[in-house]
Amino acid sequence: MAEKHFKYVILGGGVAAGYAAREFAKQGINKGELAIISKEAVAPYERPALSKGYLFPQGAARLPGFHTCVGSGGERLLPEWYEEKGIELILSTEIVKADLSSKSLTSAAGATFTYDILIIATGSSVIKLTDFGVQGADANNILYLREIDDADKLVAAIQAKKDGKAVIVGGGYIGLELSAVLRLNNLDVTMVYPEPWCMPRLFTAGIAAFYEGYYANKGVKIVKGTVAVGFDSDSNGDVTAVKLKDGRVLDADIVVVGVGGRPLTSLFKGQLAEEKGGIKTDAFFQTSVPGVYAVGDVATFPMKLYGDLRRVEHVDHSRKSAEQAVKAIKASEEGKSVEEYDYLPYFYSRSFDLAWQFYGDNVGDTVLFGDSDPASAKPKFGSYWIKDGKIFGAFLEGGSADENNAIAKVARVQPAVSDLNVLTQEGLQFAAKI
Ligand code: FAD
Repeated sequence: MAEKHFKYVILGGGVAAGYAAREFAKQGINKGELAIISKEAVAPYERPALSKGYLFPQGAARLPGFHTCVGSGGERLLPEWYEEKGIELILSTEIVKADLSSKSLTSAAGATFTYDILIIATGSSVIKLTDFGVQGADANNILYLREIDDADKLVAAIQAKKDGKAVIVGGGYIGLELSAVLRLNNLDVTMVYPEPWCMPRLFTAGIAAFYEGYYANKGVKIVKGTVAVGFDSDSNGDVTAVKLKDGRVLDADIVVVGVGGRPLTSLFKGQLAEEKGGIKTDAFFQTSVPGVYAVGDVATFPMKLYGDLRRVEHVDHSRKSAEQAVKAIKASEEGKSVEEYDYLPYFYSRSFDLAWQFYGDNVGDTVLFGDSDPASAKPKFGSYWIKDGKIFGAFLEGGSADENNAIAKVARVQPAVSDLNVLTQEGLQFAAKI
């Protein structure tokens, strides 16, 4: 098979790839210099839409509506845009071998691509229950959500099992967003998770109590403190029930599993330094091999604000890390440098009429402020995380753009607080003063 050479190759065609391509175009590239190689069949798109607008019962989001970079208010890069810029989109192409010493990538179909500079943007894959040999987990309609093909399977299942029963396994943001959108599709929804409350990696008990109450008011049932240990299916192989460790059995026409992801780094095992489950990079996203960069979900990078190394699986970081890497690549070609990446962690989620944002680090003591009554007409509440007398993290449900900016600033500035009771009283007012 023919070998194709590009000056720059972006491996992966997700969020980071789209933002990297836009930055390359901004900085200036010649036609034919850049290729994006992606397993997916479509140009880069804003992945968060898959668990939100894509599954709406009415007015559902569809491509080309949510190609990057619309998710951050930017230009929508349609396939024509890539063509115009002379950026080659090599789609439906899975790379199965990467040899960094010969700077070559080999596809499943046997094609070879060589490069001068490689940006690894392979993102994450979902953890499947079949990975742990959970009994019956290969039944039909036990679904996962990472790529657009997965979302299409879910849409088909929602249509095939109209007004049926859905069980959501996992209480993270995927579980919460999917429970809400399946409920909007009029399915009878039950969430199952082992932890004492939802989103335990971020939410405090107080924050979670609001969402669990709100979901219950919307008719979502929640089963906590147990896990799915097996599935029943009918003679067609379609799932019919979820068996729980505590002995209960839940009827199910659709099961959606959201139990986390794993960064896709296996192509580079033994070829690149790794750290904390990701590919180790410097503050410019260059890996241990010169000319090879890693961005988005796969990168473990120096978090300047906290003086440690972290891997972040959030869309905002995938965009910004991609831009940083391309700026650094282009600057180094001119013998210049760019400033170190100085990221403020930012994560958000939306479901039903709710929308929250979180900035910073969720460490230390917490205070809860505002109206967190799930029955309120317009709930608005938040939390601060306080360590060593300073605010490190801030969460806000129902905030306006200005209010969200204010809590972001608090997390960045880390103001001192002397009295947690006063902070609780002041709530959002405290952020407005910073
Ligand atoms: P991805 O966007 O996953 O892109 C990786 C790309 O690489 C894919 O196209 C994949 O097919 C391709 N690829 C992988 N391996 C190969 C290979 N061997 N050969 C060829 N191509 C390959 N974050 C938030 O902050 N807020 C949210 O609300 C939110 N919602 C989300 C909802 C869903 C359903 C999902 C799945 C994620 C969500 N995220 C959210 C997380 C966010 O989308 C990711 O952090 C982000 O997409 C990471 O960007 P990335 O470019 O690193 O990886």
